[in-house]
Amino acid sequence: MSTASELTRASAADLAAAIAAREVSSAEVTRAHLERIGAVDGDVHAFLHVSEAAIATAEEVDRRLAAGERLGPLAGVPVAIKDVLCTIYMPSTAGSRILEGWVPPYDATPVARLRAAGLVPLGKTNMDEFAMGSSTEYSAYGATRNPWDLTRIPGGSGGGSAAALAAFEAPLALGSDTGGSIRQPAAVTGTVGVKPTYGGVSRYGAIALASSLDQVGPVSRSVLDAALLHDVIGGHDPRDSTSLRDAWPSFADAARRGAEEGTLRGLRVGVVRELTADGPTGDGFQAGVTQRFREALGILADAGAEIVEVDAPSFDYGIAAYYLILPAEASSNLAKFDSVRFGLRVTPPGGGTVEQVMAATREAGFGPEVKRRVILGTYALSAGYYDAYYGSAQKVRTLIQRDFAAAFETADVLVSPAAPTTAFPLGAKVDDPLAMYLNDLTTIPANLAGVPGIALPVGLAPEDGLPVGIQFMAPARADDRLYHVGAALERLLQERWGGPLHAQAPALG
Ligand code: GLN
Repeated sequence: MSTASELTRASAADLAAAIAAREVSSAEVTRAHLERIGAVDGDVHAFLHVSEAAIATAEEVDRRLAAGERLGPLAGVPVAIKDVLCTIYMPSTAGSRILEGWVPPYDATPVARLRAAGLVPLGKTNMDEFAMGSSTEYSAYGATRNPWDLTRIPGGSGGGSAAALAAFEAPLALGSDTGGSIRQPAAVTGTVGVKPTYGGVSRYGAIALASSLDQVGPVSRSVLDAALLHDVIGGHDPRDSTSLRDAWPSFADAARRGAEEGTLRGLRVGVVRELTADGPTGDGFQAGVTQRFREALGILADAGAEIVEVDAPSFDYGIAAYYLILPAEASSNLAKFDSVRFGLRVTPPGGGTVEQVMAATREAGFGPEVKRRVILGTYALSAGYYDAYYGSAQKVRTLIQRDFAAAFETADVLVSPAAPTTAFPLGAKVDDPLAMYLNDLTTIPANLAGVPGIALPVGLAPEDGLPVGIQFMAPARADDRLYHVGAALERLLQERWGGPLHAQAPALG
């Protein structure tokens, strides 16, 4: 591992091992990634900001390692950070004009933890404005492109993090997932993404979209790499009142065991009918997605897993409930962008009252999708409609939680395609909010119930040659199961492919 291309294609686990063995320095690894960003990010536009401090940070890690200091198992490895996470020294815009140029006075807890573990922040990645969207086209700073096909979307809202991984601009990234924003971009870029159990990773310093749904999680090119990053960022944080106090097992150990054991005997895998082509919304599933999904089920069965069918009838109402709960919470979270405390301030010509300044600022600072959701959410929470909309949606949420509880009586993990289609062309859905929302069909239930989910690649769709992702979900607190089964399937698939799927990605630059 010495050429720039070897360094940018290596896994985070291998990079960390080479850095720890002093075969390569963190500075060399970081420089290779910055050069890669320089070469390809003009086309991909995964980054909103590239850190000027990355090399200096890497050199500091190298000095500490040379002095014999024991840093974490990912010490010296570069990492890209979704722009929804607050970072001291780097602007944090959440993809919005209203926060243009805002530099937070503190790090989000997951960022602080990765710095403390010796990882090297490379920069901030593009996203749909305030994490609302499934294509990254709602970013106020221009769309990100899918490295597999630059005319296609990279998924959203965390398309920048996923594209950075798929384009070999970063070996690891952080994302946030409120309705699928880690898993759906992973699915359409052939990368790995995990939404942890709600409360498993601190939300402190993550610019809130919908506080009862948001979770920060890892994005990577391998299941083990995601597990290693999850181990670094997870665990109790007194600054997040919803943070769980659990002692978590090592997710990296779970991934290693899954890859080594070579058998899934005894594991019950439940196929959620409502989240497949056999369900009531089945016509939205692309044939090649279903084909690769079913092949993966066959591989799981050959490895000894018992495949069972489960029904979760309330999942049919997931999108409807989510698109009431999310806007309701978002409209109150976004009220703080009032022209006084953060970012942009627009004064109407000739001056104006406080309210007029607020209105002009929000008019200029928010994009159309954000405005749509603020209006929808405010309406859903208004006195006369609260019970009919928000109240009903919360009841559906309870039913979905009960469906999960029943399903986990007959299955240890649940499975579905991670997204109904492969990456669609840029522009195809940007003017059709409902079509955009339907991308979230498979990912939303996990957020509504607070359970963890992983997306990983299962091949390329025959009709368009683009990556297809599978999703596993586990009961709350059983994130280790996802790493175990995910790593097992990843290994079995890679034995067939003769290497990782991303080895087949087109060369850029
Ligand atoms: N596509 C979803 C939405 O637009 C995803 C949001 C998210 O996970 N941040 O709400």
